[in-house]
Order: sequence, then structure tokens, then C-alpha cells
Amino acid sequence: MILLDGKKLSAEIKAEITAEVKQRIAERKKVPHLAAVLVGNNGASETYVASKAKNCAEVGFQSSVIRLEENITEAALLSAIDGLNRNPEIDGFIVQLPLPEHISVQKIMEAIDPGKDVDGFHPVNAGKLLQHLPTYIPATPYGILLMLERYKIETSGKHCVIIGRSNIVGMPMSVLMARNDYPGNCTVTLCHSKTKNLSEVVRSGDIVIAALGSPKFVKAEMIKEGAVVIDVGITRVESKETKSGFKISGDVDFENVAPKCSYITPVPGGVGLMTIIGLLKNTLTATRD
Ligand code: NAD
Repeated sequence: MILLDGKKLSAEIKAEITAEVKQRIAERKKVPHLAAVLVGNNGASETYVASKAKNCAEVGFQSSVIRLEENITEAALLSAIDGLNRNPEIDGFIVQLPLPEHISVQKIMEAIDPGKDVDGFHPVNAGKLLQHLPTYIPATPYGILLMLERYKIETSGKHCVIIGRSNIVGMPMSVLMARNDYPGNCTVTLCHSKTKNLSEVVRSGDIVIAALGSPKFVKAEMIKEGAVVIDVGITRVESKETKSGFKISGDVDFENVAPKCSYITPVPGGVGLMTIIGLLKNTLTATRD
């Protein structure tokens, strides 16, 4: 079993991005600038945005956070987005989800300039992904592709089983793994909450990508010998082992599944760290010369 080490790989890729930024500075080109819009004060969102800012600083990007009140109107948020769309200093930006219930996520996503949509959630970018055109691949699927590529994992002709069909992970991942490219060329099965005989389907997977948000859902008996297992799940669960009383759990029962795998990602230390790499690489792509 080989551990797909997100910590080591993300550090390697961050070093590459840092070198690119230095090169840009030497050539007097623009330093990438990522902005994040944070509405309200959701604790998890605060943590994610802080982590994005820290990672930007590490690779030499500029970053800024636009903090807006929980009770902001949809019109005011749309106006803030319009400002970012027009601001030549900002190369790419994200609107941190979730948004308050009175705001339509769809409307907000559609208001982002597709050229600055480094999360890749705008329907134009999602459509380009579907047609295998250059676009911003959503950060988590992008991070997973990089992981498969850097570890030189064979994907052609394999059966890839994905559990979870969200617009941010499962659905784009299914398109990417099916397309005629590397990583890709898989026969893909996309499972969801209505899938029948899920265990049987997962057991036929050469590559299993779990993104459903249910701690330790994928058990050893659901995995075939030698499978590649990618665990996207991040759920905060109670724990007696930590000071805080909580720990992060993946969707895979790692302890029992790992011995059967050829490759597996740990949680934490796997896909989560690669997701930020996807976002940094998209921001670099968004930066004009
Ligand atoms: P989501 O919560 O929007 O949707 C979950 C999906 O799983 C749905 O499509 C649903 O049909 C499916 N599902 C739920 N229960 C199921 C079951 N019992 N059997 C089969 N399918 C089932 O999904 P999301 O936003 O993609 O998040 C999934 C998990 O990934 C969460 O734990 C989230 O925190 C995590 N996540 C991690 C990263 C990262 O960087 N590592 C990024 C995004 C999401």
C-alpha cells in the first residue's frame, strides 16, 4: 500500500508555484492576486478563508478578504461582485459557501466573471469542462487529478466509482475521469443516495473516490484488493483522542481499508491539502501578463 501523501505533494507543488511567481516578478509581470468574499461569520468558512490567505502568502500571491455582513442584501452582494469583476488588480476570486439562505447561490455564481471564476463553478466554466475545453477545474477535482498524475497512477480502461454527485466534487470528477485524457479514460460510475447495491458497485471499482460526507462509510468489504482509494470526506466528529474533543474524519474506514489498497489518501493530509493547490494553480492561470 502506498500512501498518497497530500502534505508532501502539496509542498512540492507550492515550491513550483513560488518559483513561477519569482520568475514573474523578475520579468516585471503581475503578481497573482486572489480575493475571497466572506459573508457572515460562519466558523468553518472563516477557517477556510484564513487558510487560503495563508497559502497565498506562502507562494508569494497577494490576497484579500472582502468581509460582508450576514444580513447583506442580494443586490449589495451582486454589486460587490461587480466591483471585483471590474477591478484589474484582482485576478481571480471566490465567494465562500455557504451563503445566507436569503441569497441565491446560483445568482451569485452566475454574476462572477467566468475569467475570474477560479473555483470553476460558473455555468460557462462547467460547460467548458464538459466539452474538454480549457477552463478552471473546480479545486478539489483538480487537486485529485494532480495527485493521480504525480503518483503516475494508471487510469486508462479502469473502472472509476465515485460516491457523491455534488457540483463541486462528484459531478465534475465523473466528467474528468471519463474524458479522453490522462488522468482519465476510465469507465465511470457515479453513485448517489438513490444508488441500489452500492457495496457491490463500489467493490467493482479499480479507483474509488468517496465524496459523500459520511464518516467511515466505505468499509473494507466494499473495496476490491489492489484498488486506488481517494477519500474526499471531511466531517468533524467527537473524539476522546484530541484536546479539542473533535477530530476530522474521512468517508473511508482508513484503518481497515488501507491494507487492501494499492494507493490510498489519508484524512487529514490527503485531498484537503491538494484542494488549495487546485485553487492556487487556477489563480496563476487567471493572472494576466
Ligand atoms: P454534498 O454534501 O453536496 O453531497 C453529498 C453527495 O453524496 C450527494 O450527491 C448524495 O447523493 C451523496 N450521498 C449522500 N449519502 C449517500 C449514501 N449513503 N450513499 C451514496 N451517496 C450518498 O457533497 P460535497 O459538498 O461534495 O461534500 C462531500 C464531502 O466532501 C463532505 O464531507 C465535504 O466536507 C467534503 N469536501 C472535502 C473537500 C476537500 O478539500 N477535501 C472539498 C469539498 C468537500
